[in-house]
Amino acid sequence: MRDTIDPNAPFDARLNDVLGRLRQMEGDFQADIVSAADAKLIDRVLDQARIAVEQASEQHLRQIDAALARMVDGEYGYCANCGAAIGVERLERLPATILCERCCR
Ligand SMILES: [Zn+2]
Repeated sequence: MRDTIDPNAPFDARLNDVLGRLRQMEGDFQADIVSAADAKLIDRVLDQARIAVEQASEQHLRQIDAALARMVDGEYGYCANCGAAIGVERLERLPATILCERCCR
């Protein structure tokens, strides 16, 4: 098992990485094969998971603040890159998004 999570990976990738590790650990605990070294690794992974969740929460709050500011400025719903209207479906799915579907790719 790798003992670090790439901090530059997209949030979804980090979350999947953490969840995969937790599933693996759960299996190891059930099999009662956790060594002291594994326990330290588990502590590190759990610390990284906590940090990843905190960063994601902070990032999400910043995105919501930015969306509220864009509403005040009358820019909400328009792509920050190309200026096109962002589709309602996309805004319902990602209310704080600042990019249209095309610019997000
Ligand atoms: Zn765009």
